[in-house]
Amino acid sequence: MSPATNLEVWFLTGSQSLYGDAVLSQVLEQSATIARELDREPSLPVRIVHRPVLTTAGSIRQECMAASASPVCVGVIAWMHTFSPAKAWIGGLDVLTKPLLHFHTQSNLSLPWADIDMDFMNLNQAAHGDREFGFIETRMRIRRKTVVGHSSDAATRARIAGWTRAAVGWHESQNLRMVRFGDNMRDVAVTEGDKVEAQIRFGLSVNTYGVNELVDRVDRVDEGTIDGLVAEYEAAYDVAAALKAGSPRHDSLRYAAGIEAALRTFLVDGGYGAFTTNFEDLGGLRQLPGLAVQRLMADGFGFAGEGDWKTAALVRLLKVMGAGQPGGTSFMEDYTYHFGPGEPKTLGAHMLEVCPSITADTPTCEIHPLGIGGREDPVRLVFSAASGPGFVVGMLDLGERFRLVANDVEIVPPDEPLRNLPVARAVWKPAPTLATSAEAWLTAGGPHHTALTTQLDYETLADFCTIAGVELVHIDSSTRIDDFVKELRWNQLYYRLAQPL
Ligand code: MN
Repeated sequence: MSPATNLEVWFLTGSQSLYGDAVLSQVLEQSATIARELDREPSLPVRIVHRPVLTTAGSIRQECMAASASPVCVGVIAWMHTFSPAKAWIGGLDVLTKPLLHFHTQSNLSLPWADIDMDFMNLNQAAHGDREFGFIETRMRIRRKTVVGHSSDAATRARIAGWTRAAVGWHESQNLRMVRFGDNMRDVAVTEGDKVEAQIRFGLSVNTYGVNELVDRVDRVDEGTIDGLVAEYEAAYDVAAALKAGSPRHDSLRYAAGIEAALRTFLVDGGYGAFTTNFEDLGGLRQLPGLAVQRLMADGFGFAGEGDWKTAALVRLLKVMGAGQPGGTSFMEDYTYHFGPGEPKTLGAHMLEVCPSITADTPTCEIHPLGIGGREDPVRLVFSAASGPGFVVGMLDLGERFRLVANDVEIVPPDEPLRNLPVARAVWKPAPTLATSAEAWLTAGGPHHTALTTQLDYETLADFCTIAGVELVHIDSSTRIDDFVKELRWNQLYYRLAQPL
């Protein structure tokens, strides 16, 4: 489920006819060079396509309509090479429905101090041309990202690539179809939410299927398919002796393989990018899906347990935005704490369903009893997450809107080997400290389910939320509780005022 590689970001250049054809041909040439330089950035997930220079209100509107209508254009970068009187942009920006990045740059890196003349100044005047454009964006309350820098600067290109990932995530969100097998876990509050509002806000659609539709498929999986999957498991993981062919519990591994095959065809046939299960509603399933869910997540599908479609969507969107980057993304749950001795830490895990994309180790494939659910022992992959920086993010429904809460974390090795813990897990130090992180998270109403990622910069998540127009609060190394509480109060006001009546 990697994102389509045919996607594009369009590079639009603004100018005006006053300069004459000779200057405009230089504008065209220089903007094409910058677009090419951006396009060569290796961390860029899609192509950047240079478009003709825009000098009139009519052509600007036409171009913005074309970008909005294009099924492959996921976003637009705009640069006012020269001075492009911004009233010409009102009609275009009004119909632009794709994410917008305002790239404030210029063709020359350095001023030619000894040679600069009036012609040079007139050609290279984005310093004020882009200010005119920035004004009309703000005057029209256009949500956008602004990046300042020269295209030869790696950090500038990386920020543009990060925003491009957010635009790809937004494109995915518009097209994401999700399956819930069963409803959410009984009596749980935070996994509920307004699925109609979610579709209006994010584009994604969430629909429920009776789990026995899946069970029917599991029962129909042929033995050859199961043999193939078992061979894959043997090659990829350290499979426990009890699960190997000839051992008494081998049938449990084969049943887990049947769940994987059935789930995968269900999702692929239906064009679904994410799904949920519910251990209270397993119908005729003999095991809670563990191994199957873990492997499907590793292949890019979004997932969350207990019917939590909001977290499943986040897992999918982060995976799409992070595709091709080192690290991984998983469904996660804050499970239990280490208050000390030493630095306080969180142990995150779930009953079974943690994605092996976050480990650098070879997972073991094991079978153990599950204390809840009342089914046969489920097969699962067991591992610890690789050390390194990342963040967790959760989404809650405040009734009138969605809020996302993110927390920077440092994944660390467990203090001691976790010899008796039969599930995959991640141990992390939340920023700024466990106490402040958890106090801020609880104050914001953040959920217990999250998506954990080590393959994406936080800035890309922030860009996605800007595009979507949803609230995002960030708990990081500089978070102070009194400021955080004020931010929540101000946000409450802002987001209420920003909503249409
Ligand atoms: Mn859970």
